[in-house]
Amino acid sequence: MSCPDLPPAVDLLVVGSGPVGSALARRVHDAVPHARILMVDLGPRLTGQAGVHLGNLPAQDRATAQRRSQGRDPGTAPGEDGTLVKKYADRGTHLLRPRREGEPEQDGMPAAVMSSNVGGMGVHWACTAPRPLDSERVPFLPPGALDRALTVAEDLLTVTHDAYPPTPAGDLVLKKLGELFDGDYPPGRQVGPMPLACTPRPGRRPRWVGPDVVLGPLADAGADRGRFRIADETMCRRLLFTGRKVTGALLEHLPTGTEFALRASAVAVAADALRTPQLLWASGIRPEALGRYLNDQPKTVSSLHVKDGPTLGVGARGSVEFGGDIRDLETGRFRVPFADPARRNHGQVMTIDTSPLEGVDPALFVGMVWYGAKEIRAEDRIEFSTSEADAYGMPGMTLHYGLTDRDLAGAEQARKDQEAIAEALGGEWLESPELFPAGSSKHYQGTVRMGPADDGTSVCDTDCRVWGFDNLYVGGNGVIPTSTAVNPTLFSVALAVRAAAAIGAGLTGA
Ligand SMILES: Cc1cc2nc3c(=O)[nH]c(=O)nc-3n(C[C@H](O)[C@H](O)[C@H](O)COP(=O)(O)OP(=O)(O)OC[C@H]3O[C@@H](n4cnc5c(N)ncnc54)[C@H](O)[C@@H]3O)c2cc1C
Repeated sequence: MSCPDLPPAVDLLVVGSGPVGSALARRVHDAVPHARILMVDLGPRLTGQAGVHLGNLPAQDRATAQRRSQGRDPGTAPGEDGTLVKKYADRGTHLLRPRREGEPEQDGMPAAVMSSNVGGMGVHWACTAPRPLDSERVPFLPPGALDRALTVAEDLLTVTHDAYPPTPAGDLVLKKLGELFDGDYPPGRQVGPMPLACTPRPGRRPRWVGPDVVLGPLADAGADRGRFRIADETMCRRLLFTGRKVTGALLEHLPTGTEFALRASAVAVAADALRTPQLLWASGIRPEALGRYLNDQPKTVSSLHVKDGPTLGVGARGSVEFGGDIRDLETGRFRVPFADPARRNHGQVMTIDTSPLEGVDPALFVGMVWYGAKEIRAEDRIEFSTSEADAYGMPGMTLHYGLTDRDLAGAEQARKDQEAIAEALGGEWLESPELFPAGSSKHYQGTVRMGPADDGTSVCDTDCRVWGFDNLYVGGNGVIPTSTAVNPTLFSVALAVRAAAAIGAGLTGA
């Protein structure tokens, strides 16, 4: 049966509407304007314009939209009282499985989360978008080709180094970071402002980039519905294939339970690093590397109060509406970049030098988050259940995951770096450095990894085409094959740019 509101056949089906699915759709649409593209997402549409970053909404609307992103099982969602928020599931995300009190924090990835809404995590993300460096890059892709794809990704995400104007507090922080770390870098690399996906707005907070910006004209609800459609609350349950060819997919409109088969000339699955392999597995596509090499970036977090640090006046809060999200108050974000071999962490330092409360004198607060490059092992993996289902009726997932001695040494280095910064700034801890539970970075990678050859250690080729298929592609952080510390979204969008070129070529027969 086909769904009355959707076409029975398309040229490209995209599963998942986060930044990566959106980049795939936009690039194929631009390259092959006559292509009929359907993008499905199991979650609801939160905004009229698809995929608007929730940080751009008024506080009350944001809170409502966050709740709608938190999946079907209340036991996995952050509570109204803030339960689970911060160390486990941020607002707008939900845990893979309910939290068990007292369980070890670094085994089995207890903080693994996802977002279930049009725009995916891309309407909730912090928009940090630096390039991968040194061994983080894909060694088997020509450097020029990767750089070109990264440049396109930066254009799609409108990445800028000038998100915030300089402030005295930012200048102080940058000076101290430079004194501490610049000696570790090769020529041309140093600490500096963080590249962020946003549009700077003088006197106001930046406008944050969500998948709406990536989609461009396609995000408009009134976009050319003949050629591009987003079907929300529509889940892909199974891919349909014969031999090397995917022929379409079995979709379900969740509110009505209507199931229907859609024919497609090509399919791209960008359903996050956990649910992309889940869908392939549920479809009977089970290459040896599927769900393996799971890696997350060990995350060390702290915050400081710098007494007598430079601040902006109370009036500098200007039009900032504080919606309970600390990022609303941010006045600068800086990076301590990755570098082999000296700096295997990627550091993020945020300044807040306006007061959270109207009329209260401001003070300087500094937040620090370090992400580490994890040792990659095949045994860190997703186990799919043949008998148990998740809240969406898909194969239940159990994560087998642990940190190695090298990973713990990296986290120890992160702690020492943050302590050195606190000392250099003369700050007092609000929260001293803490290694957060595994999964809390939300940067899961490797589960559908790219490889140079079909040798059992990868799921897709360098165009993100699944080995053994002519027209099935995967996208998202799961494709990244290397050990990275950098925030991965820009990297994943760049790899999707390559996939889109291959899909476009396939559709035009070029
Ligand atoms: C609070 C927060 C802050 C973050 N900050 C940063 C940051 O600063 N920098 C950075 O690089 N990254 C950050 N991230 C991570 C970033 O958001 C992700 O890397 C990015 O969104 C991944 O994009 P994606 O399109 O691959 O997947 P997602 O954005 O996760 O989208 C996947 C989509 O697939 C849908 N889906 C899943 N299964 C199915 C199915 N079977 N059928 C239909 N639809 C399905 C889901 O509903 C979801 O909408 C952050 C994430 C969060 C939550």
